[in-house]
Amino acid sequence: MKRTGIFFHYQNGERLRDFPALLDGILDKDNVYLYDAYYPGKTPSSYELDPVPIGLLTRVHDRRMIDTISRSSDYKGALYSAAGTVAAAARIWRDEIDNAFVFTGYGDHHAGTSFYGGGCYFNGAALAISELRQEFGARKLAIADTDAHHGDGTWQIFQDDPDTLYVCFCGGESYSRNNNINVHVPWRTTDNQYLELVQLNLRQHLEVFRPEALFWNWGYDGTTGDYGDIGISPDTHVRLAEVFRQAADDFCESRLIVVLCGGSRRDLASRLIPCVLRVLIGG
Ligand SMILES: [Zn+2]
Ligand SMILES: [Zn+2]
Repeated sequence: MKRTGIFFHYQNGERLRDFPALLDGILDKDNVYLYDAYYPGKTPSSYELDPVPIGLLTRVHDRRMIDTISRSSDYKGALYSAAGTVAAAARIWRDEIDNAFVFTGYGDHHAGTSFYGGGCYFNGAALAISELRQEFGARKLAIADTDAHHGDGTWQIFQDDPDTLYVCFCGGESYSRNNNINVHVPWRTTDNQYLELVQLNLRQHLEVFRPEALFWNWGYDGTTGDYGDIGISPDTHVRLAEVFRQAADDFCESRLIVVLCGGSRRDLASRLIPCVLRVLIGG
């Protein structure tokens, strides 16, 4: 059994409309902790999620970009989305939880130092890594990205940082630089091919790199029928969660932070997120 933190906030998007109701039967477990922020219909909770402070934002993103985003109506949601990832990392380092699932209104892997797009504003994993290094003395961290698209923002932020392992599984060519590794995924693949490719590459790089924690940018947009369709079935994501959990157990003391990335279908979110959570919780 692991102690699992769920970091939840809700914006007006469609895909998470069935949450937090679908967390019934999960939140009542003794080893599950909810850290939440504002959402409609929320009852007061002893756990609150604070937005990312500006001082931390400026350690990763440039001032002009932050100012532009701050004038957008998505600013609050972007801050809370990144806040979940930052808080999850901090609470793992304080030994309050072992692993975490972060609900996001906006993704993070298309957000670089001075650019953003594709539904991403601030790079939550990069902010969390900066915070872990500054506040907790961490050094070697890993991010693995199974969203169907290339994480151009994460790549740019860490391309000259060999202390961060970034393994991106996407349609781009296989390529590596300073522990930034792109693994080519064919635009049409099968469940078993995909799982084998991810498992092999993930474990191989983690075994050599030995990070202190693993961030998993989990997008389900590659599922058949979603906007990044590469031909994989919904159940593949649950098996993928088992691969990630096992890799975290084997190579980084079970410290796994799952960050929800791409995927638009509400039915898939409702079906898959509780399953992924159960893999994290174990037992
Ligand atoms: Zn995507
Ligand atoms: Zn990529």
